[in-house]
Amino acid sequence: MRRGGFFRRTLLLVYSTVALFALLIVAIYTGISPQLFARNKIDDLIPKGQIISGYIESTLRGEISTAYLVPLIGRSTAQWEATVWVVDIDGDTLIRTQQEAGRRVGRLPARLAQAMLPTVLGGQIATHIGDQEDLSTASQVTPGRASNILDGLARQSSDADASAEEDLSGNIVAVAIPITFFGEVVGAVFMAQTMTEIMSGMQALSDAITFSVLLIALLMLPIVLYFASRISRPVADLRAVALTMAGGDLTARADDQRSDEFGELGGALNYLSAELGSTISSLELERNRLQSLINGVSEGIIALDERGSTTLVNPAAYTLLRLPESAGDLRSAAPDVLAMFDESLSGMQTVRRTIWRGRTAIHISVSPLTRTGGALTGCVGILSDVTSAERLEQTRRDYVANVSHELRTPLTAMRALLEPLRDGLIKTEEQRQQTYDVVLRETMRLTRLVSDMLELSRMQSGKASLSRSRFCPAPLLELIRETYSAYAEDYQQVFIYDVPDTLPEVIGNPDRTQQVLIALLDNAFKYSPEDGVVTLSAAIDADVIRITVRDTGIGISEDDLPHVFDRFYKADKSHGGRGTGLGLAIAYEIMQQLGEEMAVESTLGEGSAFSFTLHIAT
Ligand code: ADP
Repeated sequence: MRRGGFFRRTLLLVYSTVALFALLIVAIYTGISPQLFARNKIDDLIPKGQIISGYIESTLRGEISTAYLVPLIGRSTAQWEATVWVVDIDGDTLIRTQQEAGRRVGRLPARLAQAMLPTVLGGQIATHIGDQEDLSTASQVTPGRASNILDGLARQSSDADASAEEDLSGNIVAVAIPITFFGEVVGAVFMAQTMTEIMSGMQALSDAITFSVLLIALLMLPIVLYFASRISRPVADLRAVALTMAGGDLTARADDQRSDEFGELGGALNYLSAELGSTISSLELERNRLQSLINGVSEGIIALDERGSTTLVNPAAYTLLRLPESAGDLRSAAPDVLAMFDESLSGMQTVRRTIWRGRTAIHISVSPLTRTGGALTGCVGILSDVTSAERLEQTRRDYVANVSHELRTPLTAMRALLEPLRDGLIKTEEQRQQTYDVVLRETMRLTRLVSDMLELSRMQSGKASLSRSRFCPAPLLELIRETYSAYAEDYQQVFIYDVPDTLPEVIGNPDRTQQVLIALLDNAFKYSPEDGVVTLSAAIDADVIRITVRDTGIGISEDDLPHVFDRFYKADKSHGGRGTGLGLAIAYEIMQQLGEEMAVESTLGEGSAFSFTLHIAT
């Protein structure tokens, strides 16, 4: 469980500090104490040596009997741990202590005597700590004249037998005190003790210290435990709050009332959480706004991530692509569209193309999305319905083609007539006259075509705004009747005039209404055979008068019917020369601008009926 992590670490830290502290104490103690003990020992031995030296000096002065000297030294040194030798100036042992009962110590080791005697003979106290072997024995002792003074002492003591040197292996502490007689050095008192002996006294102290350290370490454990748990508790609490916040609950609050760093940390955490909460809610608001914007736009929007997975598809995109919103994976529903996205992702470039869905043209522009560093993060595509723009473009192309075609026909005809005329191929005056007639007719046709085109374009661009006034349609219709009755007679066709005697006044443009009527009646007669019947009728229908021009002519096929009002539209393509294909377009435009309706009904081979309305004046 992670909860104990901080607690365990704190515990470990405190406890290892204690352990390290204890270890250091033991180590330093072990390292330094022999030195200290040795120094102490020397300080302890020097006055003792001086006492022995004093005894000998007193003996030499005759204050103490020689016979008492050895027992006196023996008694004095009995309690000392150090071995004592009295040597003459040659270093020869005269007196030595009996260290343990029954064991006599050996002579003063020659090495020790040789190394330390020169100093002692100079009247100074000599000391040595360390191995005997380290002593330098370069100088040789020169026998002094006072040597025989101590020799007598040796004879008295009967101690100067020739036993072996004392074995002082390992580290030792040695002190040599000069023995003076009337200001002259006559010998020396040597005292030595091995470190092992010195340190044996220290063992108990070492044991006590080790035991104390262990005891302290043990006693510290519950205290360390208690404080570690106290320190780690607020951290655990803060961690729990942070985890709750990370889990999404930003209402969780840490304890910020404490007066220590944990209180400050809790305050900081609370502040962070509050800030985060407000940032998140404003981001959410922003996201919702953006979402409704994306959902509301008429353009389709599709976004993909860098791996090619769909991240956003707005409703308009589904509508444009004619897919239900439940279409699921676009990759299978619209593979052609997704291919463009893949192309943009792989090439890191903008891909633009127009695709068709039924009669709808969709322009798709896909751009790669990159981060500041240039790394690809995905791509976004905008889908727009460009059907009307495409249609407009198509209409423009058709228009240019139609105009060119309409202009070429009369021009070709005129050229065919004018060339033989120029070359003098037309001989008779009669033929020449006929040619002129045809050229004139074609010229007039051209003029009509151009003026029709001009009129239509002026009307469609809104430059020729039509005035509306109150007028009585009856006289207008009467005039039409007269004109076309005569016309019908000339072409062996029947014209029926079916208009009530009285008609209400209407609001509109009388001249333009007449123009429309003429266009409709012209067509009716033009597309009706001999004996065909053309009827002009008028009937009141609610608030309008409906004028209808009906014929029993060739009729218009179902396919052509929706296009009869289009510019340059001719149902009978083979008889392209009969009209400009603009008459009905102009008529329709006029009625549109006057706010009237215009309609057509027709059956191929049976006849047609074109009608329009005139609003009754109120
Ligand atoms: P046009 O000058 O060619 O007559 P319009 O715009 O007046 O031009 O007519 C367009 C086309 O509509 C004609 O070419 C013809 O095919 C068809 N049309 C018009 N009126 C009639 C009608 N009364 N009967 C049959 N077809 C007609």
